[in-house]
Amino acid sequence: ESAVMSRIGLAGLAVMGQNLALNIAEKGFPISVYNRTASKVDETVSRAASEGGLPLFGHRSPQDFVLSIQRPRAVVILVKAGAPVDQTIATLSHYLEPGDAIIDGGNEWYENTERRIREASARGILYLGMGVSGGEDGARYGPSLMPGGSYQAYSNVEDILTRVAAQVDDGPCVTFVGEGGAGNFVKMVHNGIEYGDMQLIAEAYDVLRVVGGLSNAELAETFAEWNRGELESFLIEITADIFGVRDEHGEGELVDKILDKTGMKGTGKWTVQQAAELSVAAPTIAASLDCRYLSGLKEEREAAANALYQAGIGSGDFSSGRSVDKKRLIDDVRQALYASKICSYAQGMNLIRAKSEEKGWNLNLGELARIWKGGCIIRARFLDRIKKAYERNQGLANLIVDPEFAREMVQRHAAWRRVVGLAIEAGISTPGMCASLAYFDTYRRARLPANLVQAQRDYFGAHTYERVDRPGSFHTEWSKIA
Ligand code: NAP
Repeated sequence: ESAVMSRIGLAGLAVMGQNLALNIAEKGFPISVYNRTASKVDETVSRAASEGGLPLFGHRSPQDFVLSIQRPRAVVILVKAGAPVDQTIATLSHYLEPGDAIIDGGNEWYENTERRIREASARGILYLGMGVSGGEDGARYGPSLMPGGSYQAYSNVEDILTRVAAQVDDGPCVTFVGEGGAGNFVKMVHNGIEYGDMQLIAEAYDVLRVVGGLSNAELAETFAEWNRGELESFLIEITADIFGVRDEHGEGELVDKILDKTGMKGTGKWTVQQAAELSVAAPTIAASLDCRYLSGLKEEREAAANALYQAGIGSGDFSSGRSVDKKRLIDDVRQALYASKICSYAQGMNLIRAKSEEKGWNLNLGELARIWKGGCIIRARFLDRIKKAYERNQGLANLIVDPEFAREMVQRHAAWRRVVGLAIEAGISTPGMCASLAYFDTYRRARLPANLVQAQRDYFGAHTYERVDRPGSFHTEWSKIA
């Protein structure tokens, strides 16, 4: 029986849980830990011991675990999202008392959190659904935290969360996001944006490698250089590192030996589903999801490559015969990547705003950009610019019409078009960059061919149309006039 009561508890000691628990203990908050399978409790306790005797206490019984925490209790849960969270809550809640709080740190579907908030509140238990980003290292050394739900539960642990979160120039990467499932929703969109960033970077790589003929060493150098400028971000940094890693099992670099099939866990799909539900265009994020699906069809793609080769498309058929100026191509791709990224963030931010309006969450987009500046996977220098854009104008309809971003888009659009054009000529796909460019070109046009779509709808379905020159709703008997 330990005399010290823990300030907080954490249940679920896989990668994320172990590291977050060590982070909390290292900041001086005594923590109790528990896991369904006891061996992970022992593992975590010995890690805490080997890291200099951190104040971390392992428990094999859920009752001892809960009772070792000072009241009002706060218990962080970091298990697989879905049913395991319900099972863990069921195991622990027997010992929890009114005023205690459950904090689910998993990548949970926001509606599950809203259901659990209702269930918990019926028993006087407070509940937070808290997005945690930054992977293993983030959890250990400073993640970006997106807690939503009970503000009281947040206040009870605010001192802990602000210490364990990543620290950037304007504070810790945590804020109370909003009520209900807002924290999980924001984390979901963060992951959707992450899909977009990764896809856009992969396309930049493809263009530089195939069209520009860059070697892995040149790619490493290019990405490292980009990471010193406006593209500076965690994903660009790790990409530069990846190109430098040699294959332990053979010649050359490891990146060339990796099977081109992407895995996924569902948050990108949820983001695209939510965008569709809320009628928000998110084509860059959708394109990145589609690419993951298509990448999974490795055998079909190999068969298709063969079938189309038999039908007459050779790999040399796309060469424009033009020689490319490597230096210029690299500079163009950098600009295309940056402009594409702005469009992708604009989509994610507008999705968050649409949900906020639907749910009455009153989310602060500038503050969300701020807590993404450090700790999380999408952390990037330009998030500070996004934060400032929303500070300048809270009601900003779209990031691309913020005066600063608008100027940057205009400066970069010629390079962007050159890159997409070269990729199309070369027969390689850049769905993310194309989706971003199409989004930009659609959004910035005051008049679209939607007049024709309305005419068609009215022609075959009498759906009526509005006119540009007079008010009201009109229907025409098209076939009779024609
Ligand atoms: P994980 O692999 O998602 O889950 C493993 C943990 O869940 C283990 O502690 C396991 O306990 C527990 N668990 C599974 N089923 C259970 C059940 N029915 N009852 C009780 N416990 C159960 O772990 P993770 O990768 O650390 O992720 C935890 C959460 O954080 C997930 O929601 C994940 O999506 C999210 N997340 C992960 C990352 C990342 O980089 N990995 C980043 C951000 C967010 P046993 O040991 O007993 O099997």
